[in-house]
Order: sequence, then structure tokens, then C-alpha cells
Amino acid sequence: LSLLHYILRNLVFLGPLSLLLTLTMLYMWRRWVSRKFSLADEIRKGMAAGEFRVHYQPVCDTATGTCSGAEALMRWHRSDGRSIAPVVFIRAAEEEGLIVSLTQHLFSLIEADVRAWKVTAPFHLGVNIASPHLMDRSFTADVLRLRGTLDAAVRLVLEITERSLVEDTGTASAKLHELRQKGCQVAVDDFGTGYCSLSLLQSLPLDYLKIDKIFIDSLTSAEADTPVLDTIVGLSRRLALTTIAEGVTASHQVDWLIKHQVSYVQGYYYGRPMPAADFYPWYREKCSSLMDEFVAVDQP
Ligand code: C2E
Ligand code: CA
Ligand code: CA
Repeated sequence: LSLLHYILRNLVFLGPLSLLLTLTMLYMWRRWVSRKFSLADEIRKGMAAGEFRVHYQPVCDTATGTCSGAEALMRWHRSDGRSIAPVVFIRAAEEEGLIVSLTQHLFSLIEADVRAWKVTAPFHLGVNIASPHLMDRSFTADVLRLRGTLDAAVRLVLEITERSLVEDTGTASAKLHELRQKGCQVAVDDFGTGYCSLSLLQSLPLDYLKIDKIFIDSLTSAEADTPVLDTIVGLSRRLALTTIAEGVTASHQVDWLIKHQVSYVQGYYYGRPMPAADFYPWYREKCSSLMDEFVAVDQP
């Protein structure tokens, strides 16, 4: 009797509590769904209103210290003054089936920015490619269209994460082979953070390996012990890939990377991502100061 009494007493208390919990969860789920759909809608409106821009981050040559290219990174500054982080809107665009049109929009923005640039060949222009676009029927044509609008001095580098390469390796490999034959280059982005098998890495048509920032962060001092970074750099060399270090912020990191023959570097130490209107003059100034140095060396 006391057990029945106990259960009944608790039911009176637990019944309303579980109802309240269910209602709260239902409310939160509805809010999440409506936010998700409204973000997709906002992305569509943002494209139509010209709210997206491209910033260009310098990629420098460790041997010469010169800027040898840039990575194009998308930015969304909304008309209400708010900025949305790329990781947020790129993910939303991927989930909502908008990434192909957003990347086509990115390509048209790049085309407009880069058209007037006079760059020294080869100037590597990195663009980030999302997995659903790589798998889409329009991918090869979209890339070739952008390639066709760029000056011959510009070399288009398709930055693709390990995750995207693993998803449908056969399709990705065939498309990338074709694009490489037509003058594009391919980089594995964020290397070391995914789960790309080494045999797969060997079989794919690749040119560059971009070491993720987390491994560069492990270079805390000139004497730091960095077994994983050492292995990645050695692996890249064995696979005859050109290595790019991302997220370089300090001079001792640069020294280490030069010593270990890492060819290219990118990070706040060299330059932050900049709007086209700032990047191009910055690049020209870097080039002209280097030309002055050569003239000075040449002259008696
Ligand atoms: P990612 O491709 O690895 O791009 C490099 C990110 O690291 C950029 O962040 C850049 O601003 C940041 N970064 C560069 N150097 C440093 C540094 O020295 N310190 C620190 N703390 N950060 C540094 P961002 O622009 O916020 O982009 C984040 C990610 O969003 C990108 O990572 C990329 O995966 C994605 N993304 C950005 N733009 C695009 C795009 O146009 N298309 C696609 N599909 N993805 C994009
Ligand atoms: Ca990238
Ligand atoms: Ca990266």
C-alpha cells in the first residue's frame, strides 16, 4: 500500500513536470527550425542585395618573403550592420542546399575584383570549395568559367578539405583530374584535422597540402617539440606536394618553417584578410619595394 501511495504521490508531481519539459523542448525545436529557415532566406536576400564581399589574405613565399598569391574568403556584412561569421553562413548554405548558388555568387565577385589586377605570374588564387558543390553537376563548368575570366598570370587553386575528398573519391578525383589538365591546381585544406587515409592521399590529383593552424600553434617556441607537425611536413615532401602553413602568427614559427623547407606561409604575421580595395595596393607596394631592392642590389 505504501508503494502505491508513493507512486501516486510522485505521479502528481512528475506529470506536470514532464509536460512542462516536453513543451519547453517543443518550443526550442520550433525556434531552431524557424531560425534555420530564416537564415537560408536571409542568405538569398543577402545575395540579391549585394551584402556578400570577398576578402583576400596574402600567401607568401618563405624563400623570398614576397606575396605569391591570396586566399579568397567570403564575408557577409548585413545591411542592418551585423556581420555573420563564414563558418555560420557557409554551414547554413550547405545544409539548406544554397552552397552551389552562393559559390557561383562568390566566383562572380572574384571575377569583378580580380579583373583589373596586374599580378606577377604565377599568382596563386585560392578558392574554398564545399563538398556539395564538388559533387554537383555544375562544378567543372563553374570553375572553368571563373578560370576563363582570369588573367593568364593567375593560377586558380581549388582548396578542398579532406572530408570532401573522402565523401565520393571517384567523382572528386575524375573532376579534379580534368580541371588540373585545364590549368587549375588542387590543395588539401585543413590537413591533419580530417580522416583522409594515406593511400587515398597518394592516389588523388593534388598539388598542395595546407597544414592546419592547430599544428602551427604547436610551435610555441623555437625549441618546441612538434612530432605531429614534423610528420606532416615529411609526409608532404614524400608525396612531392608543395606545403603551405596556415595561421602563422610569430617570427619563431617562420624560422622553423623556413628551416623545414615549407614553401608558403599564410597568417596574421604576414597579413590579415583584406577587402580587394586594400589588398591590391598592399600587393603592389610589396612588389614595388622588392623591385627597388633588386635595383639597389644591381646598381654599383
Ligand atoms: P579556411 O579555409 O581554413 O580559412 C582560413 C581561416 O583562418 C580564415 O577564417 C582566416 O581569416 C583565418 N586565419 C588566417 N590566418 C589566421 C591567423 O594567423 N590567426 C587566426 N586566428 N586565424 C587566421 P575565416 O575567413 O573566418 O573562414 C573560416 C572558414 O570558413 C574557412 O577556413 C573556410 O573553411 C570557410 N570559408 C570562408 N570563406 C569561404 C568561402 O568563400 N567558401 C567556402 N566554401 N568556405 C569558406
Ligand atoms: Ca581554405
Ligand atoms: Ca584552412
